[in-house]
Amino acid sequence: RKTIFSGIQPTGVPHLGNYLGALRQWVDVQDNAAPNTTMIYSLVDLHAITVRQDPKQLRQWKKESLSMLLAIGLDPNKSTIFHQSDVPAHSELMWILSCQASTGYLGRMTQWKDKTANEKDSSEKLKLGLFSYPVLQAADVLVHRATHVPVGHDQAQHLEFAREVANGFNHTFGTDALIPPETLISPAKRVMSLTDPLAKMSKSHPNPKSRILLTDSEEVIRSKVKAAVTDSIDGITYDPERRPGVSNLIDILYHTDSRSAYSSQEESAKDLAGRSMRALKERVADTVESTVKRIRASYEDLLHDEFYLDRVAAEGAEKAAKSAAVTMKAVKNAVGLA
Ligand code: ATP
Ligand code: MG
Repeated sequence: RKTIFSGIQPTGVPHLGNYLGALRQWVDVQDNAAPNTTMIYSLVDLHAITVRQDPKQLRQWKKESLSMLLAIGLDPNKSTIFHQSDVPAHSELMWILSCQASTGYLGRMTQWKDKTANEKDSSEKLKLGLFSYPVLQAADVLVHRATHVPVGHDQAQHLEFAREVANGFNHTFGTDALIPPETLISPAKRVMSLTDPLAKMSKSHPNPKSRILLTDSEEVIRSKVKAAVTDSIDGITYDPERRPGVSNLIDILYHTDSRSAYSSQEESAKDLAGRSMRALKERVADTVESTVKRIRASYEDLLHDEFYLDRVAAEGAEKAAKSAAVTMKAVKNAVGLA
């Protein structure tokens, strides 16, 4: 039997990269799951606070993110949807795993190195939670005995770490309490920023024009795509190395073109070869708009139904807590805590 687990941080309204790289897969898995499959999706608010958050803003983002998970088509009757901080077992397992995790390994994580590159000399300012974040992420996945974890490319390294932690724990304590999960990387594994095509699209990047939100109006989508950084080379070709901006637009087109007639990005670029950059951008805006349209409308309805959102979160937390309890019992037994 399969258990699918994944999470998203409530650090802003999800964007096209989140959708194509992760969220769309969550819904696909749910809608095509064999009867024996369990799907668990979390709004990982404890991860969100590894950087400073305004409490009021965080509360709002949690609500918005939950509405978005429902708007994209997750069904609480089929998938467990919950706020991470509602299920204390995540933090509890994290502590136990922290006592196994190597600081050397954590220090080599790309995300840690990136986020701390500018603060090299000020370890006073660097927070322990940001450093140990991958241990919490490992706990998230392991506490539900996930077998498969659908994520974008940027999370592959953290999942490698989760497998390492699981195997290490099982070996140390002579148990099979933890299951090393498989990573499922979506075909659109890395959607790039519209303003800096060498960086991935992110919720937390300071420039709102760098990303297309799943709540953006058609007008906003058109203006963001129009302003996307490209290059001055003639014609349309797919070449991520030399033409990252154009290639990102072709990627977006390819992955939003209602699962297109083209078999590859190269082929869809060929079709556009004689066209202008403007024509490419118009096509991208069209396909993005048609992808986002229905999501946006259903999001607006859901966001105002607080009663329903609270109920979904409460029921999700209850189911997630039950799932986690099974693992915690085995883990505590293995360690000698119970
Ligand atoms: P933040 O900037 O706060 O880290 P984020 O945009 O990176 O936000 P996360 O909540 O960290 O979003 O990640 C949620 C999921 O979306 C993860 O599975 C991640 O791999 C995926 N993801 C994030 N950004 C992209 C992207 N640009 N392309 C493809 N997948 C992405
Ligand atoms: Mg991220």
